[in-house]
Amino acid sequence: MNILVVGRGGREHTICWKLSQSPKVSKLYCAPGNAGIASVAELVAINEGEFDKLTAWAKANAIDLAVIGPEDPLFEGIADAFEAAGVKVFGPSKAAAIIEGSKSFTKDLMKKYNIPTAAYETFTDFDTALAYVKAQGAPIVIKADGLAAGKGVTVAQTLPEAEEALRTIMLDKAFGQAGDKVVIEECLFGQEMSILSFVDGETVRPMPEAQDHKPIFDNDKGPNTGGMGTYSPVPHMPKSVYDEAVRTIIEPTARAMVAEGRTFRGVLFAGLMITPEGKPKTIEFNCRFGDPETQVVLSRLESDLLDLFLATVDGRLAEVQPKWSDDSAVCVVLAAGGYPGSYKKGDVIDGLDAVTESTVFHAGTALDADGRIVTNGGRLLGVTATGATIDEARRKAYTDVDRIRYEGKQYRTDIGKKAL
Ligand code: ATP
Repeated sequence: MNILVVGRGGREHTICWKLSQSPKVSKLYCAPGNAGIASVAELVAINEGEFDKLTAWAKANAIDLAVIGPEDPLFEGIADAFEAAGVKVFGPSKAAAIIEGSKSFTKDLMKKYNIPTAAYETFTDFDTALAYVKAQGAPIVIKADGLAAGKGVTVAQTLPEAEEALRTIMLDKAFGQAGDKVVIEECLFGQEMSILSFVDGETVRPMPEAQDHKPIFDNDKGPNTGGMGTYSPVPHMPKSVYDEAVRTIIEPTARAMVAEGRTFRGVLFAGLMITPEGKPKTIEFNCRFGDPETQVVLSRLESDLLDLFLATVDGRLAEVQPKWSDDSAVCVVLAAGGYPGSYKKGDVIDGLDAVTESTVFHAGTALDADGRIVTNGGRLLGVTATGATIDEARRKAYTDVDRIRYEGKQYRTDIGKKAL
């Protein structure tokens, strides 16, 4: 089969790497891809937002399945565009992608269907929102309703902090229309954990859990990033918590989306808080694979990823049972100096040839005029290793991290440490 993956990050590199192992894949393309993806797929120079060009190219090149990586094109209806063009597509419709695109939609959905999540209220007026925050007290969580690239959420420890977040979103319009509404939530405490699932409507096939590290510095210090590293499984989380999350959160949400006429087909990402009492509560849903969760989770997949994609698209998930390795996986993200603030591009990355213990998934990399791999973004590489234990996977990943060199190299040294 001929497959087109859409996207350019570490997530898409991982998806392409896994698909390239399938004997059923004859041609694998990625639009637009990156320097690392070029080693497993043929790159197509079309951007994620160019739906007409992508669908026309897919038809002209006899693509049997398009796989959509990032959320933005999904919100804008890329899956609907491929479907209208008669090309099979893995990724939810615009109607279903709202589960990530609007926090108030999703909070209302969870309330209606009794799905565990933080208590909340939604506001469109600044004064009313402020009065509510004052009545509730701190700590409290303020969220812009729409997409704000992960920057629209403030976990306010004090009332002045909460007020400033409300001003930034509602009065200064720092996130544009995404801030026309705010969701104000009860602050949850505990450990975060993510469960990604293949969902074909009502059938859910959950993947092993993973834990991300959002802040830029060790010990969860500093500003939040897109994710500085992940590990899977989360061995200190009892199986009963995982089972409860699937039973009380993920499966009911899939059924709720069907009942609402927004059938979800694709990967549903549940971001969870596990309370100190061991109760899973929903923080957020995403409508696609997470980055860098994908790197560790798909490293543990033993089944053919293409089979799972096709079963999801064709509504046959009930017939398949994916196999997962008992190994542990750890992904350490290498970032550019200055990230998540401003950073340079174009520095040569050396040492990739010396890597022996891990698979290095590329995110913000490019080839320069001399064919060298150079920095081209904030998060650059995801050094991903597997081993019998988290400890072993960590040692392997960090051995290779040490071998990779570029100016301003930045990474966390404590990925997976919580699991030791
Ligand atoms: P991202 O895309 O970066 O995951 P987002 O903009 O979709 O973020 P959320 O996932 O809803 O926003 O929140 C971001 C982070 O804020 C969470 O990972 C969590 O650490 C924290 N957070 C969100 N809601 C709560 C809550 N109710 N209680 C405590 N912490 C929370």
